[in-house]
Amino acid sequence: MTVTKAPAPSANHCSRDLREWLTHLSATDRLAVAKPGLGLKHELAAVSQRLERDKAVLFPSPDGHAVPVAANLLASRGWIGDCLGVSEDDVIGRYQDAVRNPMPWVEIDRGPVQDVIHRDVDINAQLPVPTHNELDSGPYIAAGLMISRNPTNGIQNVSIHRCQISGKDRIGVLLLPRHTWTYAQLAEEAGEALEVAIVIGVDPASLLASQAIVPLDFDEMEIAGAFHGAPVEMVKCQTNNVRVPARAEIVLEGRVLPGVAEPEGPFGEFPQYYGRRANRHVIQVDAITHRKNPIFHTIVGGGMEHLLLGGLPREATLLETLQRNDPSVLDVHLSRGGVCRYHLVVKIRKKQEGQAKNIMMGAFAGHYDIKQVTVVDEDVNIHDGEAVEWAVATRFQADRDLLVVGNTQSSKLDPTTTDDGVGAKMGLDATIPLAADEFTFTVIQVPGAGDIDLDKVLDDDDAAAAIIAGDNRGE
Ligand code: MN
Repeated sequence: MTVTKAPAPSANHCSRDLREWLTHLSATDRLAVAKPGLGLKHELAAVSQRLERDKAVLFPSPDGHAVPVAANLLASRGWIGDCLGVSEDDVIGRYQDAVRNPMPWVEIDRGPVQDVIHRDVDINAQLPVPTHNELDSGPYIAAGLMISRNPTNGIQNVSIHRCQISGKDRIGVLLLPRHTWTYAQLAEEAGEALEVAIVIGVDPASLLASQAIVPLDFDEMEIAGAFHGAPVEMVKCQTNNVRVPARAEIVLEGRVLPGVAEPEGPFGEFPQYYGRRANRHVIQVDAITHRKNPIFHTIVGGGMEHLLLGGLPREATLLETLQRNDPSVLDVHLSRGGVCRYHLVVKIRKKQEGQAKNIMMGAFAGHYDIKQVTVVDEDVNIHDGEAVEWAVATRFQADRDLLVVGNTQSSKLDPTTTDDGVGAKMGLDATIPLAADEFTFTVIQVPGAGDIDLDKVLDDDDAAAAIIAGDNRGE
């Protein structure tokens, strides 16, 4: 299926909320609407998956529920460029710029996200929460920005975690040992619950900001502000001290309970396998607030939107790290076949022999998810899997250009790693040897093929018929 092409980027086009983005998608023929009443269990995800590289989709009255669901907000890198106001090629540079120049948010008194307040919480009655993959344990909030506060200094963190609906006001949540987990540990050591908010239905730039690989106590909402070119307006939750985007659609206010662990999972994850069931953190939900006619956003686990959201922020961070070590690095790409996490392609302007292997080791150290690094020269299009394979086929020899490192820390969601996440790394140097003679690696080309005007040189179908019939031969 071909990707619906994004329009040429307009300067500073950055939707302020989910509705502005849906309006923009609709105006550019990228928003489909399902017939009312499709099923929340599997049917909604099935339709989303079929359209995932082509169109966003709105589901009115899913299972008769009053609240509609939106899916596929980002279908390609071109769409990400569109939402950040740059071309596809400038997306990484724009992301790096926003991380280097964060913009703090401002607090306002009230916002539409608190137009309706439910203190008597019943999640599945109040919100249309879908079930996506076959063996998922049940309905999951999959696209909620979890905002938490560091209990020692009040700085907020933003990230996305899978949230299983475990009861009418209870959520089971997977916290990997990163920032939200650290805040929950700090709260638990003080014998307290961690105040959180789960924010559903924001603009795509805020979703991208939430996935930044930045240090602890770096508030990701400030990256969203940088994308918007204006501070994000936030309001204080009704039942705790967390601040949430005023223009969001829906917020669940709650607390991560100290010392409580209950079963969560399985859930279909980005490697296209299930994260298994285990005892995990529990959130007690104290209130749900939302706009007057809210829209619920979901991300189908393992789908295109899930992969794009995880991949691009990692590319921006890895490029920053690799360029700091070696300015010969020009660009990086986490390929779709490598689940936008595991397989990295690095483009370099090679200056010295051996350089590629140093770069591989830098990438392995840059993020534990990186499993395979392929280093290519600057003439290779790293976003084209065929071009990268061609470089490996014609510029790589396994006995001298392969690097394997065993027993390293790797992704726990990769089914070939051990339970404690130990696996191996592989690097392929597909760059041309500097000492090679020029002719050996001269790439063939037909002069003029790239810029010839076919309308000027091609005749019509009648001319073909005449030639085949022999009409024009002077015999
Ligand atoms: Mn963080």
